Amino acid sequence: MHDPNCIFCKIVRGEIPSRKVYEDDLIFAFHDISPIAPVHLLVIPKAHVSSLAETRDSDAAVLGRMMSEAGRLAREQGADDGFRLIVNTGRVGRQEVMHVHAHILGGPEPLGAMLPRPGA
Ligand code: 5GP
Ligand code: ZN
Repeated sequence: MHDPNCIFCKIVRGEIPSRKVYEDDLIFAFHDISPIAPVHLLVIPKAHVSSLAETRDSDAAVLGRMMSEAGRLAREQGADDGFRLIVNTGRVGRQEVMHVHAHILGGPEPLGAMLPRPGA
């Protein structure tokens, strides 16, 4: 259910402080500690799932909830005219924290370029 060495599991359990914006039975949402956009939230499953490359059928409900709540969370934080939802996955996807998380990126104005060039 949780990995004692995982920083996002520790955030869910309150063992590491975070700026929480929402929590329900399946998901937890909080502000990214190093925002790269005016609105930068992370939405995560409360139960430990390491990456989108390692999901099972039984993860469908929580993954669906992460997406179905994203728009409301973005709007509540001021991203009321769209946002990006990004799930970095694995080495090639440059995932740094191995607990599935969706980045919600938004702000009052359109964001910059979508992706760095390969190798950047
Ligand atoms: P990744 O590169 O794995 O997709 O993104 C991990 C994200 O987690 C980064 O944007 C990073 O700023 C954020 N992060 C890492 N450690 C913490 C933390 O302790 N608290 C919060 N709020 N965000 C974190
Ligand atoms: Zn975890």
